[in-house]
Amino acid sequence: MDLILLGPPGAGKGTQAKMLVDRYGIPQISTGDILRAAVREGTPMGIKAKEYMDAGDLVPDEVVVGIVQERLQQEDCADGFILDGFPRTVAQADALEDSLKESGRGIDAVISLDVDIEALVGRLTGRRTCKDCGAGYHVKFDPPKTDLICDKCGGELIQRQDDQESTIRERLDVYRRQTAPLVDYYSQKGILFRVDGMAPIDSVQSEIVQIVKGLT
Ligand code: ADP
Ligand code: ADP
Ligand code: ZN
Repeated sequence: MDLILLGPPGAGKGTQAKMLVDRYGIPQISTGDILRAAVREGTPMGIKAKEYMDAGDLVPDEVVVGIVQERLQQEDCADGFILDGFPRTVAQADALEDSLKESGRGIDAVISLDVDIEALVGRLTGRRTCKDCGAGYHVKFDPPKTDLICDKCGGELIQRQDDQESTIRERLDVYRRQTAPLVDYYSQKGILFRVDGMAPIDSVQSEIVQIVKGLT
């Protein structure tokens, strides 16, 4: 089962992807997480990517395409994967299709999380992430049991550097210009499924599970 979660920053892709990992046992592939790990490790790729990420711009296609191609070849992707935050441009989507074709597979479903753009600033400024295990929270909509402490591992919850209002505006603009066209792109391929991303987290998950059931 090869899935893509599509939606603007803050739509809930990461939240839903992690729940799907627990449910189906296939990996989440988040280009954002992979890039942030490279930034933390200070690899040459991370050093280059950081400038784009801090500005709220997209990292160049060839960099992220390379990351994903390499990741998809790993053994844990054999039975499927959940792409979260990739593809973000038509060029990335074309490259993904080509490399999947080479290994005789293809995307089964693209799940578009439809959200009210106005709600996203509040979602992103309130987003908190566990420094140790990467679990996601929201100060209002999905708070941890104890302030600033991860329910799952006790780690410290931190705010992403790019989740400040000025950078968020730029990211939403980049989404509108470069990523939103993928909704039509996948709709034309007949594999787009739309979900109401404004519903509560558990309801969104149920809708996605229904879609997945329909695939098999
Ligand atoms: P994305 O990966 O699409 O950028 P996230 O999954 O990180 O989005 O979600 C952004 C923020 O919104 C997080 O703080 C998350 O807890 C919260 N969130 C996710 N889904 C919902 C929802 N359906 N309703 C309210 N808040 C949500
Ligand atoms: P969000 O879901 O909140 O938009 P991500 O964690 O997916 O955040 O991405 C964070 C940043 O990493 C993006 O703003 C961008 O700079 C970079 N990035 C992640 N995925 C891609 C991608 N597929 N193409 C280009 N840049 C990416
Ligand atoms: Zn944790």
